[in-house]
Amino acid sequence: MADTPIITSPYPWHVAFYEDLHRRHAAGRLPHALLLGGPAGTGKLRLATVFAHSLLCQSPADGYPCGRCQGCTLAAAGSHPDRFLLAPEEGSKSIKVGQVRDFVEFCARTPQYGGYRVALVAPADSMNRNAQNALLKTLEEPGAQTLLILVSDQPSRLLPTVRSRCQAVSPGLPDAADSVPWLTELVGEEALARALLAAAGQAPLRARDLEHSAWFAERDKLLRQCLNLVAGRQSASQVARALLEHDSTEILEVLTGWLAAAARQASGGAASPDPRLAEGIAQLAQHCPAPRLLTVHAQCLEARRLLASGANPNAELLLEQILLSLAGVDVAAAGF
Ligand SMILES: [Zn+2]
Repeated sequence: MADTPIITSPYPWHVAFYEDLHRRHAAGRLPHALLLGGPAGTGKLRLATVFAHSLLCQSPADGYPCGRCQGCTLAAAGSHPDRFLLAPEEGSKSIKVGQVRDFVEFCARTPQYGGYRVALVAPADSMNRNAQNALLKTLEEPGAQTLLILVSDQPSRLLPTVRSRCQAVSPGLPDAADSVPWLTELVGEEALARALLAAAGQAPLRARDLEHSAWFAERDKLLRQCLNLVAGRQSASQVARALLEHDSTEILEVLTGWLAAAARQASGGAASPDPRLAEGIAQLAQHCPAPRLLTVHAQCLEARRLLASGANPNAELLLEQILLSLAGVDVAAAGF
């Protein structure tokens, strides 16, 4: 075993949720299959893992794993015989039906340590249709003292038959009161922490990763280019090319955030919490009517869905259409 300390608690913004889960478990009110959903980059897998390990711990304290016993050590090393992780294999994006069959066998065996048996399925939405179907019977009757936790950023992508066999639980987005101090400690400055969180849609782990992202340092420049487009000083294709110097998925996410912030402000809501962007967002809100901002926002969401679907669409074309709509060009009428 390496010297890395065993993680025995969820992120600070999940503590209340975790303790509620523990209380429900202690009172025998938890079903045997949970579907833990919620935004990406918020630490759901850590929450699920710590909770699962608390059930394998030989001396848990108030629902938290001790981090020292044999149960905790084996669980953290991934070698506890009563723990199963169903995740895509290295180099693959999906959980295959063969892996699910191994898991079904695991559930048919008697627990080796005589206590709980736990399984994590993450990301659950990476199971293909066959894999999900193969899991149905086990989801219904996994055997005594067994807990399955399916973790997913997009539970809606799971088959309804899978969803209906689980109890959906979601801690939602973290409160700034918990995420800001956590991130400030990492990045050293509260204003930067708030700006990163705003750019990451309040998802703290994504915010942490953004600090090293090239576009984040250039975000005010990129926003200015969008403003140039709206003012007719730059063409959609010019701005699309500039934006696509960065990762297309990230850029679409950024645009979605800006449009949502501008739409909020155009409808009388609060200004952007990122001081470096507040003026630009306000200008966007001034120059574009709220219905247009909302339409383009929806287009961004659809483009992100297309990119994530693996359909391999042309990102430059998608972005150009989005930017044309932002500039007020009727894309359909223009024959795109
Ligand atoms: Zn322990």
